[in-house]
Amino acid sequence: MKEPENIKPKKLTKKEEDQLIESKFQDLLEGYLASNHRKKVEIIERAFRFAKEAHSGIRRRSGEPYILHPIAVAKIVSQEIGLGSTSICAALLHDVVEDTEYTEEDIEAQFGKKIASIVAGLTKISGGIFGDKASAQAENFRKLLLSMADDIRVILIKMADRLHNMRTLGSMLPSKQYKIAGETLYIYAPLAHRLGLFAIKTELEDLSFKYEHPEAYTQINNNIAASESQREHIYQQFALPVKKRLDEMGLVYEMKARVKSVYSIWNKMETKHIPFDEVYDLYAARIVFECPNEADEKRLCWNIYSEITDLYRLHPERTRDWVSTPKANGYRALHLTVMGPDGNWIEVQIRSRRMDELAERGFAAHWKYKIGEGEEESELAVWLKTIEDILNNPEPNAVDFLDTIKLNLFSSEIVVFTPKGELVTLPKNATVLDLAFNLHSELGMHCIAGKVNHKLVPLSHKLHSGDQVEVLTSHSQQPQESWLGFLTTAKGINRLRAVLRKDRRTIVEEGVKKFQSFLDSNNITISNELINKILSIKQLKNKDILYFAIGNNEVTLNDDLLSKISPKSNDGILSKLLRNPFSTAKSKEGSVVSNSEKINTKEAYLLTTIDGKDNYIIADCCHPIPGDDVLGYIDDNNRVIVHKLNCPTAMRLKSSFGGRLVATKWENTKQKFKAKIKIEGIDRMGILQEIIQIISTTLSIYIRSLNIEADNGVFNSELVVLVEDTAVVTHLCKKIKKIKGVTSVVRVNS
Ligand code: MN
Repeated sequence: MKEPENIKPKKLTKKEEDQLIESKFQDLLEGYLASNHRKKVEIIERAFRFAKEAHSGIRRRSGEPYILHPIAVAKIVSQEIGLGSTSICAALLHDVVEDTEYTEEDIEAQFGKKIASIVAGLTKISGGIFGDKASAQAENFRKLLLSMADDIRVILIKMADRLHNMRTLGSMLPSKQYKIAGETLYIYAPLAHRLGLFAIKTELEDLSFKYEHPEAYTQINNNIAASESQREHIYQQFALPVKKRLDEMGLVYEMKARVKSVYSIWNKMETKHIPFDEVYDLYAARIVFECPNEADEKRLCWNIYSEITDLYRLHPERTRDWVSTPKANGYRALHLTVMGPDGNWIEVQIRSRRMDELAERGFAAHWKYKIGEGEEESELAVWLKTIEDILNNPEPNAVDFLDTIKLNLFSSEIVVFTPKGELVTLPKNATVLDLAFNLHSELGMHCIAGKVNHKLVPLSHKLHSGDQVEVLTSHSQQPQESWLGFLTTAKGINRLRAVLRKDRRTIVEEGVKKFQSFLDSNNITISNELINKILSIKQLKNKDILYFAIGNNEVTLNDDLLSKISPKSNDGILSKLLRNPFSTAKSKEGSVVSNSEKINTKEAYLLTTIDGKDNYIIADCCHPIPGDDVLGYIDDNNRVIVHKLNCPTAMRLKSSFGGRLVATKWENTKQKFKAKIKIEGIDRMGILQEIIQIISTTLSIYIRSLNIEADNGVFNSELVVLVEDTAVVTHLCKKIKKIKGVTSVVRVNS
């Protein structure tokens, strides 16, 4: 990818700038004229003039005239999503109501109701989905989804807007970059996936990744480039016989090798704990064939499949037939994996031209082809219906609400059958209970078990694609809190929570009574301070949860609690230490400098040690060390807590508390940091000694703790070492991996 952002644009004269704007617009028009849409140039031209005038004199942070942004968004809408004149106009006008004097009424008077209502939808959600508070965040997100249910084009244009903002993210403040990149990864990429905008989804992920992990991003790109010639060589060897067969079939086709996206390679390396060289499915071969007659598509896919499997050995478990049953986002293709000439598995994707367009552009492509409309649009309609459903049963807790929605965005699907032969699409890992809730709330509430392929299974049984499932119910069955543990669908969780909330209220009231009488009998008066103290001791989120826990007997009101909350027990540091002699986290907090001045989030915060005290806190959830990609979160006491960028907690902080984030930089800290290493291998005499020998003697690294388990000849060990930075850890892992019998060594988060 070329990156013009480091080159400062030379100052243009007013006239040159105007020429630039006009030429960008002409470029947009030409692309539109080359598309299959009706040619409504006049209204597009008018929308452009209107927006240009409205934004005149305004510049983006990068210094370029503002109007270039709406033009770029309109171009994405037209050429990358494939929408027509109404959407192009709305894209050109998308920031007019938000940023200028003009109102929705002005737009309506000039361009009619439809365009005005799309612009209005875009204006409503323009403040970014995420405010600084989770509640505002959920509210904005709800608005976004509502406007989407109203007119799908709103979200498609919003997607284009976000894509252009991501492409130009380089000129934003670093703290803003995190927030925008985090939000993109959290919501927009999954949403793009759900809408079938595959190309956009991939680009959004790669761009977010680039800003969150700049070094890893460059590294992987370099690795891809370095391995290219070898990869190309193997691919040619693989493709030659296949092409010969396809030619013999008389097909018109394209066959190409497609390298995985940088982000998905990284994801694989992270989740499988493997280095770049061990990502064997680095690329896939894709065959796109011309097929004027849609009725022949399926047969041709399978004919090609059969030719390829004549040539190469088929991986028995990796054939995916999304031709007969498309994915819920509309994706169709036939995938198979065969053994390549170098002995590595290679995936082959077979698609017709129409399927390919669909895969790249999603549902929007349907409007272009105007075929198969009823079917696919109803798939989309089903999904939108679920969203509507969640919106109509709002979850009072904002974060839960977002999680529920996200469940729906991320999951890949399975298809199961009811005894009547009805098809039901469910997210992967859905259980019998999920299906019950999906069919009908009442069925969910009273579900006692299921029959999968005629065999009795419990409620928590995970379903697989192709299962035939019958739901068994009983009137005496009552919904239970523990069900939340194995429900995976938004619909099921939402419904169950709604019922439990009603029961919950009674328990909370019970808890309030118990707590009050406990305080009364010990002569303690209730105060916010007191409550907060208990919340932090019990590690509970809020008062309501505390009362619930008391009412439910999960928190017992006893002397132990009393001694912790009543002032009498505050008997000096010594007793505190004795109570918890190994609590390093606590003692460490005492030696942390709180910043007296307000932290400037516009600059990178230097993580350093002043007079033996750190000016930061290492987050307990992910234990970052120098060399990790990290970010700082400013807590209520103005202290900086350092998280790994890819830590799940940080993910949430990024999207919920953008204003409290600060970019950080390690500044020659003389500290040693804890890093946890996981070692697995085949057990043999003396292997432990060898490991310890290497760590402490050869490398002089201090071992903080060591845990080892051996079972049936396999051993598992977790050790915590004190190190300066990631380079030391990497070196250490390499050394240990060389020990005979060790099969895997990885650094783990907590
Ligand atoms: Mn915009």
